[in-house]
Amino acid sequence: MTVYCLGSINIDNFYRLQALPKAGETLAATGFSRGLGGKGINQSIAALRAGAEVVHIGAIGRDDAWIEGELTRHGVAMGAVSRVEVATGHAIVAIDDAGENQIIIHSGANNAQSSEMIRFTLSGAKAGDILLLQNETSHQVEAAKLAHAAGMQVFYSAAPFALEPLRAVLPYVTHLLLNEGEGAELVAATGVALEQQPVQAVIMTRGAQGADWIEQGKAPQHTPPIKVQPVDTTGAGDCFAGSLAAALDTGADPAAAMRYAAAAAALQVTRAGTADAMPSRADVKNFMD
Ligand code: ATP
Repeated sequence: MTVYCLGSINIDNFYRLQALPKAGETLAATGFSRGLGGKGINQSIAALRAGAEVVHIGAIGRDDAWIEGELTRHGVAMGAVSRVEVATGHAIVAIDDAGENQIIIHSGANNAQSSEMIRFTLSGAKAGDILLLQNETSHQVEAAKLAHAAGMQVFYSAAPFALEPLRAVLPYVTHLLLNEGEGAELVAATGVALEQQPVQAVIMTRGAQGADWIEQGKAPQHTPPIKVQPVDTTGAGDCFAGSLAAALDTGADPAAAMRYAAAAAALQVTRAGTADAMPSRADVKNFMD
């Protein structure tokens, strides 16, 4: 089986400064680094490391050698990544010595996905394959509809949370992934309890409290957290989503897949970084023993 992911690909540019700039001010950064980012690509890399066959559908700016190099380094196949006439999605993150930050995000190519690429790529999918979606690209509804019609499972991470995109995609979603904040927003905005959402399962991640698998008419199944000393929790939710999809796709039942995802995410938060911190299947298996 295959995990398809229509998802964002970003370049995160980090600038260290003594103090954040005020309006009209020009400041020299004291340090600079660049990293691969985007919820979509993080989920794809997590699923790849977990051993799934993964097809990432995305878009990047034409002639962007840095991002192509990063994707290739992480083992992402480029066959379903479109090169478009818009800059690769990117973030400018200014961080001062007190740890305060200012962030500018430009969605860029993430909002210029190609319908043809989505149709062509998903035409190769089989019933039961998984499509992963998040709220950081255009064309989510189109992809979800196609996947639904093909009998695929459609996993939607409602992040960054926005009610209208979620409402539009929900009729085609089989598995809805939320963190606690997103879950609370959904229930407050719709007045519909998580147990009543019109999907096969809601998966609620709860940080250091673990995660729940919630099906209509059944008691929620709780997966306890694995106790670790976190170093950097960025991307924990993406690690969980990609690992869960990979485990289900490679034949695990929901309870076993949730245990695998919780272990992968716990291991991921003990490592610095995001995509680079996604653990391999072998590391997760060792960690679980
Ligand atoms: P992020 O936005 O940082 O990617 P998130 O808010 O989407 O994260 P969380 O619910 O914080 O997602 O974390 C996802 C999963 O990662 C949790 O369900 C849990 O399994 C694991 N996890 C996160 N933080 C910890 C921790 N401190 N200790 C152990 N496991 C953790």
